[in-house]
Amino acid sequence: MADVFTMGIDLGSTASKCVILKNGKEVVGSAIIPAGTGTTGPVRAYEECLADAGLKREDLSMIVSTGYGRNSFEQADLVISELSAHATGVHAMYPDARTLIDIGGQDAKVMSISEKGRLDNFIMNDKCAAGTGRFLEVMAKVLELDISELKDYDAKAEGFINISSTCTVFAESEVISQLSNNVDIPSLVRGINTSVAVRTASLVKRLGVKSPVYMSGGVARNTGVVRALERELGVEITVSEIQQLNGAFGAAVYGYGRIK
Ligand code: ADP
Repeated sequence: MADVFTMGIDLGSTASKCVILKNGKEVVGSAIIPAGTGTTGPVRAYEECLADAGLKREDLSMIVSTGYGRNSFEQADLVISELSAHATGVHAMYPDARTLIDIGGQDAKVMSISEKGRLDNFIMNDKCAAGTGRFLEVMAKVLELDISELKDYDAKAEGFINISSTCTVFAESEVISQLSNNVDIPSLVRGINTSVAVRTASLVKRLGVKSPVYMSGGVARNTGVVRALERELGVEITVSEIQQLNGAFGAAVYGYGRIK
């Protein structure tokens, strides 16, 4: 039987992610473009993903879009919610997952997953930048660091500087004031990462912590936030091997299920 290729494309607020799957299982192409819906990010992710897999549009049996900008991608054959995409993705890769924490650029979601991979319950923060990737981007800019460096500075921290403001704008002023006092940067970065973790941990506690706990989304690439969440929740957290690509992967898995 000929191989079946499905594409999942996750059009986020901050980044566009794309995955091509062979026969619903094997990832044969992927792309992450740090530009979200409303930019050239979606088309670039789509084209780069096809090139990465060495395939053409005609080779794909189905394209499934998800994410904040899911309805604005014309090439999609099917549109699914982010929650469905994430639950499908984590269950396909880690059938034992009972909780998934996904922190993206503009929201944080916590999902309870059943043994059969059904989304039992969820809770999300999409009202406030604190506790999302945007907060970390603002702070990295003030510190003149790349977003990918926050984990490295956190790993070097020997102390901890608490960020007391809960609002991103006030927290930014607080960090600027700390910088003018020549504080230890790694300790300040740990305080910043912990601030996001504390906010997310309160969502997880509201939903109820069920192990094993997995984490996806762009912020899962920041191990400083992951370790701080483990400290806050007192549980071990496994970062999905495909991190930021979990939604796109789940959309491609879902697409395969529809054509079988
Ligand atoms: P969305 O789906 O909302 O676009 P993503 O799940 O793609 O969001 O996550 C975007 C966030 O991921 C950014 O705001 C940033 O905080 C974080 N991020 C992206 N790349 C990295 C990286 N290399 N290291 C650490 N964090 C990252």
